[in-house]
Parts: sequence; structure tokens; C-alpha cells
Amino acid sequence: MTGESSGRKTKIVATVGPASWDVTILKQLILSGVDVFRVNAAHNSIEARWRIVESIREAIAATGHHVGILQDLAGVKPRTGPLPDGDSIRLRRDASVTLIAGSDQLTPEVITIDEEEVVHRLRPGQRVLMADGLLELVVQEADGTSAKCHVVRGGYLRGRQGVTVPGAPVDQRVLSEDECRDIRFAAEADIEYLGMSFVTKAADVDMVRSELQRYGGRCKIIAKIERAEALESIDAVAQAADALMVARGDLGVQLPPEDVPLAQKRIIQVGHKFGRPVITATQMLESMIYQPVPTRAETSDVANAVLDGTDAVMLSAETATGDYPLEAVAMMDRIVSAIERSLPPHREPDTEEPTTIASTIARAAFDITQRSSLVNVIGVLTRSGFSAREVARERPEVPIIAMTNDAFIANQLALVWGVKSIVVDYASGTEELMAQMSSELIKAGEARPGDHALIVGSLVYHNEPGHTDALHLRRISD
Ligand code: PGA
Ligand code: MN
Repeated sequence: MTGESSGRKTKIVATVGPASWDVTILKQLILSGVDVFRVNAAHNSIEARWRIVESIREAIAATGHHVGILQDLAGVKPRTGPLPDGDSIRLRRDASVTLIAGSDQLTPEVITIDEEEVVHRLRPGQRVLMADGLLELVVQEADGTSAKCHVVRGGYLRGRQGVTVPGAPVDQRVLSEDECRDIRFAAEADIEYLGMSFVTKAADVDMVRSELQRYGGRCKIIAKIERAEALESIDAVAQAADALMVARGDLGVQLPPEDVPLAQKRIIQVGHKFGRPVITATQMLESMIYQPVPTRAETSDVANAVLDGTDAVMLSAETATGDYPLEAVAMMDRIVSAIERSLPPHREPDTEEPTTIASTIARAAFDITQRSSLVNVIGVLTRSGFSAREVARERPEVPIIAMTNDAFIANQLALVWGVKSIVVDYASGTEELMAQMSSELIKAGEARPGDHALIVGSLVYHNEPGHTDALHLRRISD
């Protein structure tokens, strides 16, 4: 069952943290509109993560909705040394500060960085950004073990904040021990999505995929686009990955922030071209961490991501640590729904003719819904989720209902634009399957007797996933 039917097509991803990992709150978050929960491996131990995943699953079971889980790999991000919780140091503009490798507590004079290599490579003239670019230093002198810097943009610095040196050459991306452990966790916990941070090129994604295969993980891989290099080879990265994230937090530190809006549009276009769902992430309703209402600019940002054609919008600290997690989800739902009620879905122009049977059928299904008002709903028979993604890529206005025989696939499809799922044991025989679709659509409240459904699915290759080969226009009867 799809739970109570919301017409919203753009999906909502919410990050889980101390503000939300209680089962009661998780349940309320689902009922407020969360489609996918994100668990960030950077912020918790494996034991803690097992508990979080179990709580999420308990909440999902209690609501009966189909909800996916995304685990982000921590990635390789140099960080500053620590400070006691809640403490910060103040770096004043024009002050001098020295950077060294290590893990000593920060002082206004000396800032430690947990990766020796980063300090080792600093050269005079380079910029060093801290805390998502909030603070900016310029290196004046560097001798390989320490670097004297001038504070260009000062402010307060907390412990364990990210350090970025824009333009510094990237090493061959390797998987850290922690990342390998977290990939294994994703496989063992049968999580639906794995997010790879700091992807630089397609081969990075392949590396995660082969590691995942060692453990038989079924998760789809999301390439987080947060480095300029990934953007430069975005077509190849998109093809290697199963989905993309516009990771605007880090991307806006790596690139000048003014480049991020166009990068967002481009990543969404590329996702569409290769049939990869795209999540637009970070700072979407940032002020709702502390306030029950967003700024007008944030409201516009969420709306514009929908207008760009994103599959999903994401909440980070708003739901992980913020004071108003439920309000943030409800607000996102309101903004998205308002746009979707007023305008047809954003659709990229058809620059390419479909070349496969599946994409040809998906395009044909879309064309029929455009040319005739007869069709009320598209029903997709999908074992792997592939056919449903192909249909969703066309951005039809009518509901897309995926009928699958695998609850895991239903949860995975929760991220995909416009797709709602029904889980059944498939009837055997073509006519039986079609009749089953018809009655399940009625049962789920997605169609009424006398409505017309376009049924898309695989009939010849009945048991092989990814082989859409049939399009059937059917009058719904009970
Ligand atoms: P993060 O990724 O929240 O894991 O850093 C998203 C981003 O960088 O925007
Ligand atoms: Mn990031």
C-alpha cells in the first residue's frame, strides 16, 4: 500500500540525527512527507547506525509507507582539530594564524589539521577555506610542516570543521578503511542507496561498486557532485552512478558560490539525459534549524529546484539537529506541492530519440498522456524498478504507480520523481497480471472503475528485470 495518497511528485529526503532518530519522530516525519531518510556515516559509529536503521525500519513498518534509506560515506575531508562541544575560537580579520598537522585543540594562534599532506602541500598565495567557506585564510609562508596565514575573512570556528584548499590537485581517490567498513554495513543492512562523497571521476564510482559487489549489496550508488573535477566529467560520472546529488555545501566551497546555481541546473539535465534521479541538497531551509519558518529566499530555492526538474529535495541539519524537524518537512511539502499544483512538471526538451525498447515505450506512454485525456494513470509492472524510472524520466503529469513484487524495490523507488509503489505477489499469466494491476490501482485509490490506465511492463521477458516491452491501454474494471 502507498499509505495515504499525496499527489506530490518531487520527493523529500531528510537527514536523520539527534533531533529525529527517535521512532516517534521518525514516524511523524514519514507522515509529514519524508520519502527517503539519509544517515550520514561521518557522524556516527557502526553500532549507533544499526540502531538508527532499526528505528527507521520500525517507523516505516508502523506507517506502512514505502521509504528508502540513504547512507552517505564519510569521504575524505580534512578537518581541523577539536574544541570542547559548544566552544569556538574567534579568528579576527587581518590576524595571523599558523596551520600545522595534528589533533591538538584549536587556539586563535595555532590551528591543527588532521591530514599532514594538506599542510605539507600548502604554498604561499593559496586560499584555505574553513567551515564550508565561512572563514578564509591566505597562506603567506609555508615550509612543509607549518604555514603562516593571513585571515582574510574572520569569524568563529568550532572544532572538527572541514578544511578546503580550492584548486589543490586531487589525489587518486581511494576508499578509506572507514568507507570500506561503511560499504559493507550498507550491504549487510540492505540499505537502498549509498552516497559517495567527493567523487572526482567515473572510476571512483566503479571502485565503490566493486567493493559493494564483494558483499552482495543491492544498493544503488549516488555520486555526490561536490568537486569541480566531477562536474568536468559529469556525463561519465552520471553513467557510472545510479543517481546524482547536487551537494551544494561542498560544491560551493570548491567553486565560487555564484557558479552553483548553474551547476545545479546542469547536473539535473545530465541526470535526466541518462535516466539518473537527482537530489538537490544542502541549506534548502537552513534558517529552519533555529526558526519555525523559512526565509523567502529559501522558499524560492526549494521552489526553483522543483522548477529545474529535480527528483528530490533534501534537508540536512534542519532535520538532523535542528529545533523544527517536522515543521521543515511540512514546509518543504507545502512549497513543492504549491508549485506542482500550479505548473506542469519541468521536462527537458527531447534532444535525443529513444534508442532502447524500454525508453521507446516510456516515451510512447508519455506521448499518449499528452495527446489524449483518456489516461488517468500509468501503471508500471517493474521487478527491478528500471521500467518505473524510464517512465518517470518522461515526467508525465498523470500518477505513476509501480507494481512490484519486491518491497526493497518499492523503498528504492521512493526517491524517484513521481513514482508511488504497490507491493504484491505477481499473478501468473499476462491477462492475470493486467487484471491484478487494475484491481490494485482501485484498492490503492489510484483509479476508479471506468478510468483508463496505461500499463507498461515486461511480458515477453517476464522474469528478467529491465526488459520493458509492452504498453497496454486498459479500461479499469473491478
Ligand atoms: P554533506 O554533503 O552534507 O555530506 O557534506 C552534501 C553537501 O556537501 O552539500
Ligand atoms: Mn559534502
